[in-house]
Amino acid sequence: MPNCPRCQKAVYFAERVTSIGFDWHRPCLRCENEACKKTLAAGSHSEREGKPYCNRCYGALFGPRGYGHGGTESHTFHQGQTGQV
Ligand SMILES: [Zn+2]
Ligand SMILES: [Zn+2]
Repeated sequence: MPNCPRCQKAVYFAERVTSIGFDWHRPCLRCENEACKKTLAAGSHSEREGKPYCNRCYGALFGPRGYGHGGTESHTFHQGQTGQV
């Protein structure tokens, strides 16, 4: 029985969603960004160091060049999370 990386509890088949190489409870697969926590759909979100992010947060947090091609907008989150773990 796989354990959910989010809550460390067993994931039963009926509630399992597999993404980025892990088995998650459906409600546990959500954006790692504390300010977001959007529920994600398996296979249609981004991942960084084994943690799931929605595409929007991923772009804002890690790939400012790949997001916001308008040029005038340059939102980036600065939450002191710049350290590489
Ligand atoms: Zn879980
Ligand atoms: Zn997000």
